[in-house]
Amino acid sequence: MKRFNDSDVVYMSMTLKVVYEPRGKAGEYADLACNLYAGCDHGCTYCYAPAVTRRTRETFNSPHPRARILEKLLSDADELAEQNERRSILFSFTCDPYQKVDERYQLTREALKILLPRGLNVTILTKGGARSERDFDLLAQYPEQATYAATLVFSDERYRTRYETGTAAPTEERIAALRKAHALGLKTWVSLEPVYDPVQSLELRRRSKDHRLATVRGGRYRAPRIARKRLLH
Ligand code: SF4
Repeated sequence: MKRFNDSDVVYMSMTLKVVYEPRGKAGEYADLACNLYAGCDHGCTYCYAPAVTRRTRETFNSPHPRARILEKLLSDADELAEQNERRSILFSFTCDPYQKVDERYQLTREALKILLPRGLNVTILTKGGARSERDFDLLAQYPEQATYAATLVFSDERYRTRYETGTAAPTEERIAALRKAHALGLKTWVSLEPVYDPVQSLELRRRSKDHRLATVRGGRYRAPRIARKRLLH
């Protein structure tokens, strides 16, 4: 941590390694974020992350752990805890914390074990469905610090499998995981982005609200003309 004294004001600048402050649209979702993996095997055809991370879609869809990620996260966690950081750290923007590869490495569980006991707040945003439930035991120990969110894009499974071609869970499974998280006392919310088909997004919004599962975020219509045609006709 670097400290700069200027008369009676103390400026602090954190030297974080893997936790960062998202900018732009991502900043509306989370104050802080971290990506444990390089790439994501959920294979969403609408994913912007390959372009952002400058990878081909093929390479991006074959994920691997980021180099020394837990060691770096541990260093960041100590620094953030020393600062009494209250902002929540979101997992993740450029990968999914409960993509299939996490079954092998379980980095998300290790990350939670680092952050939660240090008093830091964590938000999970996932399409992993039941795969994410394996860490509910940990999250439930820290209900004041843990938030669970699911991304819902398609209510019609035929479209979901067409546009989410990898290992993402069916929409119903994601809603079931949300229900369990909610029942455990975790704060829950739903991301409706991207909106490919407004009819399906509105249906998902209605269902999330009906079940009082979550506050709903997102909803900007982003579908390219070609996708809109395919979906609505
Ligand atoms: S889950 Fe998110 S990061 Fe993973 S492929 Fe889909 S949009 Fe991209």
